[in-house]
Amino acid sequence: MNEKNKKNKRESWSFRKGVILFFVVMILAMVSVIIFVRGSEKTEKTGKDFSEDIKGGNEKGQVKQSNTTVVIDPGHGGNDPGKVSSDGVLEKEVNLQIAFCLKAELEERGYNTVMLRETDANLAIEGATNKKMSDMKNRVSIINDSDADILISVHQNSYSDPSVRGPQVFYDEASKAGEEFALILQEGLNSINPEYSRKCKSSQDYYILEKSVCTGVIVECGFMSCPEETALLTSVDYQQKIASAIADAIEKTYN
Ligand SMILES: [Zn+2]
Repeated sequence: MNEKNKKNKRESWSFRKGVILFFVVMILAMVSVIIFVRGSEKTEKTGKDFSEDIKGGNEKGQVKQSNTTVVIDPGHGGNDPGKVSSDGVLEKEVNLQIAFCLKAELEERGYNTVMLRETDANLAIEGATNKKMSDMKNRVSIINDSDADILISVHQNSYSDPSVRGPQVFYDEASKAGEEFALILQEGLNSINPEYSRKCKSSQDYYILEKSVCTGVIVECGFMSCPEETALLTSVDYQQKIASAIADAIEKTYN
């Protein structure tokens, strides 16, 4: 083999090595592309599923459960007892007990809660000339600062006829969402004791509902003018039933 042949053979071998290397690189590149495309398809699918979830929530005007904040407003407190039963039970105390049941029930179900009071004190500024107005304004201010989704204001009712009883939900006349929620909640409360079912009512006279930016209802859990119902309202079992019915209605609306 002369030098020229040797040189040709070397060049030919180098050329073959180049071709083999080229194919190896091409195959590796194709494998990489396949892996990348499959990965992208997966991400796309996950992304699509997720966006459908979000869309589903938005269509109903709802947020995911873990992001839902409920403001619980135990009515009255301090120098304002609310209704007083014939045997001296104070509405402010019943309201607070039911509010605590509701707070525990909601937190167990994964909701965020904000309590407007946790002690026997209203929210009026000390020395305010109109204590009731000062109290209400401060409640509204906390509600609107809390970025809450729903307000549950807990109260007890009273009427001249002591046989009148049953829970009743009130909503702001101008709030469609309030009405929808009130209907669901009223149905749930009626199922505790169907014999004393009532209908929810709209009102334009509730300052707290009118001024709060979130959906809100006032729950008159029962009539303190009815001795039998007052006895129920002060029992832990019944308070828990009311709290569960309210939490169920929230879950139906904000799930
Ligand atoms: Zn009240």
